[in-house]
Amino acid sequence: MEQQLFEYLDSIYAEMVEIRRHLHQHPELSFQEEKTPVYIAEYHERLGHEVKTGVGGRGVTAVLKGAKPGPVIALRADFDALPIKEETGLPFQSKVDGVMHACGHDGHTATLLCLAKALNSLQKELSGSIVFIHQHAEEYAPGGAIDMIQDGCLDGVDVIFGTHLWATEPFGKIQYHTGPIMAAADRFEINILGKGGHGAMPHLTKDAVVIGSQLVSNIQQIVSRRVDPQEPAVVSVGSFEAPNAFNVISDKARLIGTVRTFSPEVRDLIEQELETVTKHTCASANAEVEFQYFRGYPPVVNHAEETNFLADCAASVPGVSEIENMKPQMGGEDFAYYLEHIKGTFFFTGAQNPEWELTYPHHHPKFDIDERAMLLAAKVMGKAVLQYKK
Ligand code: MN
Repeated sequence: MEQQLFEYLDSIYAEMVEIRRHLHQHPELSFQEEKTPVYIAEYHERLGHEVKTGVGGRGVTAVLKGAKPGPVIALRADFDALPIKEETGLPFQSKVDGVMHACGHDGHTATLLCLAKALNSLQKELSGSIVFIHQHAEEYAPGGAIDMIQDGCLDGVDVIFGTHLWATEPFGKIQYHTGPIMAAADRFEINILGKGGHGAMPHLTKDAVVIGSQLVSNIQQIVSRRVDPQEPAVVSVGSFEAPNAFNVISDKARLIGTVRTFSPEVRDLIEQELETVTKHTCASANAEVEFQYFRGYPPVVNHAEETNFLADCAASVPGVSEIENMKPQMGGEDFAYYLEHIKGTFFFTGAQNPEWELTYPHHHPKFDIDERAMLLAAKVMGKAVLQYKK
């Protein structure tokens, strides 16, 4: 049956590419997806799957029931894009100004739709059911997963698999990892309220730029001096704004940044320390400050048995040239929520191809993927579906 599945997928590879390129030309931002969920729902309806739209907002689920009894397996693909102006110059470049599929979610969707078609062709021999979870809004916290789960997309599901096409790893490589594989991703915002004035009379001001600079520097000591060196953690200030003329001292400064952690204790510690350091730094300069901390996605924690099972499946898929037990990475993903509810695993499918100059990282205006990675991802997930036993 596996051979049949692979051959079927090979035979519809052109369609997979076509779907991906269509979606690539028509990207939609998180929580604003309108045409994409309709496109997905129609595709599954043509296959005769049981389709639900508006799941948890803008999500779509579709169910394929095999002829024989067996496990209920969910496969997830996200379908939102990013507020980035595309600079690839590709013939199928985004037609929406300032919006781009720069994370490969177009590829995830094409992969899952074609895998659904391929599995559908084996319906008479399939054991169990497959729930295709097409998730909106992965890129923007609180994300779509949490609402889709509350709306019942995991009800009765035994196990879930998902992959990310990964443009910084070579095509042919599959990466897996047991336990935490992606970090908790939080955001903080600091507004410093000093006292502005003439650039030549600093003694009459509370310079928000100087206070903010001290703060950026003090924040660096949280990871280096407060967090256990055995625990991974990142605190990055992504933006520091205090726009003004050259001869004016700013009364206000705004700093925003991100915190990435794996352990809940370290996450709590950093949140607390950030607030303390911020308040003390500003107090020592007699300035006021507003501090806000927003919790984003929890860490993605893969279940051991399902992860090893997936890695075993991938090992014998033709075209897979390397399987790596990867180091966890500090990016965030709301796939985390599915794994808090049921067992499963999230893995990476290499999509880089230096020979074709496909080397730009995710969220880059020139981001692109080696599209053959979609076929490989479909084969690995398809094999997992055929092999999985409860
Ligand atoms: Mn992504």
